[in-house]
Amino acid sequence: MITQHEQLTNHIIYPETYPGFQGRTSLKYLLFLLVIFSYSSLFAIEKFYFIIRVDDIQSRTTWEPRRIIDFQEAVESRGGKISWAVIPHRLIEIQNTDGQLTRDLRESVARGHEIVLHGYNHICPTCGQSSHEMYCSSTATHHTYEVQAEMIRQGMDILWDSLQVIPRSFVPPGHQADTTTYRVLLDHDIELISTTGSTRDSMYHHLYNLAPHSEYTWTLSESEYHAKLRTALSEIESRRQSDGYYCLLLHDPFIRQGYENGRVIAWTAELLDSLRTRYGRGLAFVTLSEAAEIFNPSPVNVAHAENRIPRTPVLHPNYPNPFNPSTTLSYTIPQGGHVTLTIVDVSGKAVARLIDTYQAAGKHSYHWDGSSPDGQPLSSGVYLSVLRQGDRTVSGKIIFLK
Ligand SMILES: [Zn+2]
Ligand SMILES: [Zn+2]
Repeated sequence: MITQHEQLTNHIIYPETYPGFQGRTSLKYLLFLLVIFSYSSLFAIEKFYFIIRVDDIQSRTTWEPRRIIDFQEAVESRGGKISWAVIPHRLIEIQNTDGQLTRDLRESVARGHEIVLHGYNHICPTCGQSSHEMYCSSTATHHTYEVQAEMIRQGMDILWDSLQVIPRSFVPPGHQADTTTYRVLLDHDIELISTTGSTRDSMYHHLYNLAPHSEYTWTLSESEYHAKLRTALSEIESRRQSDGYYCLLLHDPFIRQGYENGRVIAWTAELLDSLRTRYGRGLAFVTLSEAAEIFNPSPVNVAHAENRIPRTPVLHPNYPNPFNPSTTLSYTIPQGGHVTLTIVDVSGKAVARLIDTYQAAGKHSYHWDGSSPDGQPLSSGVYLSVLRQGDRTVSGKIIFLK
């Protein structure tokens, strides 16, 4: 392809190719060409970035099969990428006891899709509803920094423990978040949020927002199938012009093959085919984080997100919990150093010191039989496991049931 610069250079070197390249008329002609080439080169380099965000992985649906790979294959075979907004707690719930979702998501990450943190368990700690979590929209209650930080930390621990992923982006459950949420996210090295409101902009300090656009596939019926396809295509075109990207929103239950025999999978595939026909090579499929890196003039998190090793010690959920007679405690430390792992009772008294030594960077585990150092079994109840390295301390709740 000839670039604008080469073409202009050619014209200047070989003016005889343009009859009448003389005097003021020719100068006007050259200026006219310059304007035309400037425009055409702008259009030539302009890309249309398309994001596919699927929320609420994994919902508690009973539709079978539960696997996400049918949808993933339909998207992948059309060059698409998916940003999975994962509810971390679902990975340790009963519907994932066979570990299938964990394996599918690990595979998905390896194939270039993204895991997005979607709260902790998607249940509001104030009112108990499952429609929101970080900010209670039912009672207009702001949760404290400590409450929100605990949810984010627990969610990140599960994602690390299950998928070895440190999320770079966050989707607030039910679109509910407040400035405390934003502070907590930044303090946990998450610098991208995808929520309603102003978009392609830093919404709080350097927390960058890429808002989702519409969802067409929530309980998509057969009679709406074609009308929604047409509406989506026209909305996508107008958003392309106004925003330079489109973020299609979907929800987990409806991307299952078992949902109405895969209607949403077929609809999405048809939409992507139409987009590829319409926009050709100008269409670029990206994940949320990739889009943020393209749009955000000052990404801060890129270097550290690359290596996917935590910057601070991480205590993973012990398993099993509650436990009897024994449980495994595991944690990851960012660099080698002196580490202590202590069991503390509810009064704050240390009842067992399990680790007190130098350890190398990486993941470590300790199998604990629930006894104190003198071999006496502890009584039933709630304890805290406390991991300390340097001036960093993290703790988790463990329950001993006799
Ligand atoms: Zn609530
Ligand atoms: Zn959700």
